[in-house]
Formats: sequence, structure tokens, C-alpha cells
Amino acid sequence: YKIYPADFVSATEGTGVVHTAVMYGEDDFNLGKNVGLPTVHTVEENGRFIASLGDGLAGLYVKDPKTEGKIIQSLKAKNLLFSEEQYTHDYPFCWRCGTPLLYYARRGWWVRTTAVKKELIANNEKINWVPEHLRHGRFGEFLKDVRDWAFSRERYWGTPLPIWKCEKCEQIAVIGSQAELEEHAGKLPRDEKGEINLHRPYVDEIVFSCTTKKCGGAMRRVPEVADVWFDSGAMPFAQNHYPFSPYETRSHRAGNLAFPADYISEGVDQTRGWFYTLLVIATLLAKGTPFRNVVSVGILLDKNGQKMSKSKGNVVDPWELIPKYGIDALRWYMYTINQPGDEKRFDERDLMNKYRGFIQTFWNCFVLFDTYVEKVPNSKFQVPDSVSVLDRWVLARVDQLTVEVTEALERYDITAAGRAIEDFVITDFSQWYLRRSRRRLQHPASKKEFEIAASVTAFVLLRLATVSAPFVPFLAEAVFLGLKKKGKIKEESVHLLSWPAPKKTGKQEQRMMEKMALVREAVSDVLKLRAEAGIKVRQPIAAAPLKVGFGKDMEQVFLEEVNAKKIGAFDAVITPELKEEGMAREIIRNIQEMRREAHLTPRDVVRCAISGADGLLGVMRKWEAFVKKETNTREIETGRMAKPKATREIAFDEGSLTASIG
Ligand SMILES: [Zn+2]
Ligand SMILES: [Zn+2]
Repeated sequence: YKIYPADFVSATEGTGVVHTAVMYGEDDFNLGKNVGLPTVHTVEENGRFIASLGDGLAGLYVKDPKTEGKIIQSLKAKNLLFSEEQYTHDYPFCWRCGTPLLYYARRGWWVRTTAVKKELIANNEKINWVPEHLRHGRFGEFLKDVRDWAFSRERYWGTPLPIWKCEKCEQIAVIGSQAELEEHAGKLPRDEKGEINLHRPYVDEIVFSCTTKKCGGAMRRVPEVADVWFDSGAMPFAQNHYPFSPYETRSHRAGNLAFPADYISEGVDQTRGWFYTLLVIATLLAKGTPFRNVVSVGILLDKNGQKMSKSKGNVVDPWELIPKYGIDALRWYMYTINQPGDEKRFDERDLMNKYRGFIQTFWNCFVLFDTYVEKVPNSKFQVPDSVSVLDRWVLARVDQLTVEVTEALERYDITAAGRAIEDFVITDFSQWYLRRSRRRLQHPASKKEFEIAASVTAFVLLRLATVSAPFVPFLAEAVFLGLKKKGKIKEESVHLLSWPAPKKTGKQEQRMMEKMALVREAVSDVLKLRAEAGIKVRQPIAAAPLKVGFGKDMEQVFLEEVNAKKIGAFDAVITPELKEEGMAREIIRNIQEMRREAHLTPRDVVRCAISGADGLLGVMRKWEAFVKKETNTREIETGRMAKPKATREIAFDEGSLTASIG
């Protein structure tokens, strides 16, 4: 015997010495090849020892315990047995039926990919990888250690190798086209439908005489089929019937370049699969990079980071989630929860938060608009002309958003694009613009004020539907169709609109957006002070602080949001006058909530009846005109209502009022 060093033997298992069988294991074979051991089979393909083997072993099945007994006996007889014991070790079994397997060195067909290693690496450099680290990481490393491609498979189904071999002289003919095959064979095989069919079994019927002169032997097809990854990797060429048609064009879009592809997307495991074979085949054909961009997505795990599997019972069924949250919520989760290449630990709560956070907020913005606006005054949705600082701000912000989303999508950064939209919808549009602007829709001071607010809101909603369409196609379409009903848009679907031209915001707008950001910071400071002083937001205060230089319009926005009468040092003293106004606002809020409970539309006019302590009623009478206007109430009676649509008890420090609407 001989002992050879090998790095695949672990020093932590067993003795660190293993026997090697050159033809029955990849490591064994590579070692045998390196040190020059003979490559001879002692086992047939049926798992039985070959006939020429001695010691009575010929024809015995290798995994039979009786065979093992015979081997041990024979070693004993020759005094070659050192020791005998039973022990447990790993062994390969068929995953489906549990049959013990035997690794078996066989001849196959190979493609010498190592010959184009330099070109593979150079072409990889031209690809924009998302995530970026794959280029030199997982994929790049794989290319650095590129091995020849084991191209053939010994299966029945698959693309038959177009190789014919002479039975007599072993001459090989590789057939390059149907015409060439027909030339050799005389005619092509047909299937039961009478159609030419070059799959198995028909193709194997083709036998023709040897291409070597005067040999006279018969040529038959080799039994192997191609690795299926060849079929997927050949896609850019095969789809155009290359080499018989040009590969750069799709037949149905003549003249339109389709190679290289703009982008492809698949799981990160495809670095050894599709991503690789696409690159290999294009490189072997010297056609360069087959795709410009690739978005590779990470694995979806359960919320504890465990792989989902039926046996563990932790599989999440998308068909339970989709009816519950909608397919767009699931999409939005995938785009924005983290980068596409990162693994996702799926927790339904995250999906619910995305649904409530983005999907519902976006939809509610539209619902608010839909409730108050019947026809878009600016019916063609041109950029509205407004002097309101709030309008100019939201129009500048939505332009800025368009630039951000466009640039992020240009570099295939889906997460940045999605998060920019989400941030705009929730923080800027819903929580700031519509919050500060909704009273212009609800209780406009003039027709003009209403028309401007409606036009700006419609414009922003249409822009949002357009830029979010690639992400949330159904929600975007629903908003679009809702807008289309109220204005003049010729396109039938949001998905037929052109992408909006990104318009860089000017210096003036930049300054305005910076100022607004500072105003919003000042607002949150004041809200904190109010909370510390225990003053509800509905209770007006005398003064709140804002630095100078924001201009009248911004100051007005600030004062409305913090509910203060003027700019000044924070004043927590509630004068009787302020207190009364706070009470009036409390009454208004309660009437509004009753209107909602009674499912009234904002246009429905109501009557109201209020009863309670005289002092409180006096305050109410003083503010009656304001309350009526804010709540679209025709008259306010003192007393109780016979059949109210809704009734409420409104509690104050001084007692309570009972209010009803009808
Ligand atoms: Zn099996
Ligand atoms: Zn021949």
C-alpha cells in the first residue's frame, strides 16, 4: 500500500487516514489523477463487482452485508486484517427512495470554459450588480476558480447532444443545423403527429454512414443530452434562432436591439446557475456581456431567520396574505423592507405595518380628495399656478421626488426609490401638506381657494400614481382611474403614461424646502412643550416661538399647526378667551365625529341640539357662527332632539354638554 497526503481528510474525524477508491468519489478521483493512480473500474454500473475480480467476489452487489462479510473473510485469510468493528458514518442515499448510492466515475462531454477565463472576468466587470458586492464576491470568486463545464447528462429528457459517432472507427460528427442533418440522413424523423421532431426518441432513429472515407461504418447519436443550464444560458441566442437569424434582434420587434438585455433578476443562488451560464455562452461566442444590470434577490426566511420548510411547519403561504393585505402591500414590503439582495426574515407584522403605513395612507390621501372634489378644476392636470407657500412647497417636493425616484431607478436601486415615495406620501403629503391644506377643501374661504387646493392635490396625486406605478400597479391604477373620472386624461391606464420628465428644483425652491424643514422642526419642538405643559393640541395658545426670517406665509402655516395666536415666547397661560375657543373646537370635533358615525357626506347639512349647564351653553352661543360654519350645521337648538342620528356627551372641566345631530 501507499499513503498520500490529501487536504479533504479531516483530522477531527476518525484516524485521519482513509482508504481511497479512485473511481468512486470526486476527491478520490482528483487525488488519483494528481498522483497517477490507475483509473480502472472494479464495479459494474449495476453496483456489482466485475467478473474478473477474484476471491469469489465477482458479480456480488457491493452494498450487500454478505459481500462485506466475504471481503473481511478474504482479508483475514491473507492475514491482512488489522481490526474489525462497526461504526456510523455519512453515506449518500437517494433523497426520494432511500436507495444507497455509489459515486461512479464516468466519461462525459465537457466544454473547456477555463480557456475563456480572462474574457469571463473582463465581461463580468461590465455588469452592474445589485447588490454590488456580488461582482467581486460570490460571482467573481466563482469565475476566478472557473472549471470546465461538465456539459452532458445521462438522462432521457433534455436537448439531445447533436453528436454522432461511428461504431467502427469512432469518428465523430457534430451536426450544426437541421439542413446538415438532413444531408447526412436523407430525411428527418417525424413524430406521431407527422411533424419533424428532433427530440428523443425520434432523433435516435437517425443512423447514417460514417463520414470517414471508405470506412463504411454506421454513425449513431451518442446517448447523452445537454445540461439544462445550457438551455437557459442560451436563451438570448436561442430565442432569436441564432445562428440562422441575427441574435441582436427579436423577430417580432425588428430593428430593436435586445442584446445585451437591460436587466435580469433572479435569486442569489443563480450565481452558479443562470447568471453564470448566460455569461459563459455569450463569452464563448465572443458576443460580450449578455446583460447590463442584474438585480439578485436574497432568500426569504421565517421571522426567526430559519429556512422555511414543510417539515418545520414554518412556511408562510402567500395566498393567505394576499387576500388579507393585497398583492401591492406584499410587493411594497419586498421593495422597501431592505435591499433586494439581503435575506428577508418574514414577519407578518412588518407586512401589516407596510400596509397600514404606506398603502393605506396613499389610498386615504386619494379618498380625502375624492370626498371633496367632484371635478378637477385644472382638468388637464397642468402644473397649477399658486401663490400659497404650502402649494409651492409640495409642488417643489414632488419634483424633487420625481428626480430622486428616476435617478434611483436608473441605477437599479429599487429600495431607495421605494423609500423616497413612501417618505413623501406619509411624511410630506399626508402628515403635512394635506393636514395643513385640508380645510381649503373642506371649508374654503373662496371658490378660487378651493380650486387651487383641488388642482394642486390632483396634480400631486397623479404624479404619485405615475411614479409608484412600477411598484404598486393596482393601487396606482385605482388612484389614476379615480382621477381620470374627475378630469381629462386621454390615456386609458396609468401604465400607458410616459414617465414624468425629472425637473431639477431651482435654488429658490431648494431654499423654500430647507425653510419648511426648519418650520417643521420648530413645530415638533412646540408640540413637545405643549405636551410637557399638559395642553391639548386643540386648545389654542397665545404664542409659540419661531426664529425670524421665514416670511408671513410660513409663519401662518406654523401658527395653524401649533394652534397659536402669534409668534413669540412660548406662552402656556390660557386666557378665558383662549379657553372658550378651545371649548368651541372641542364641540366642533365631536360634531364632526358624529357626522362620520352617521355616515354623512361633507355636503350633508345637519341640525344640532345641545343641552347642559348655562355657562357652557353661553360659550357655545358666543362661538355659534364658527361652530356652524366648521360643521356645516344649519341651526343649533338648545335642548334635546327627538330622533337624533347621533348623540354625544362632551366633557369639560366645568361640566358637560349633550350634543345631538339630526
Ligand atoms: Zn431513488
Ligand atoms: Zn467510421
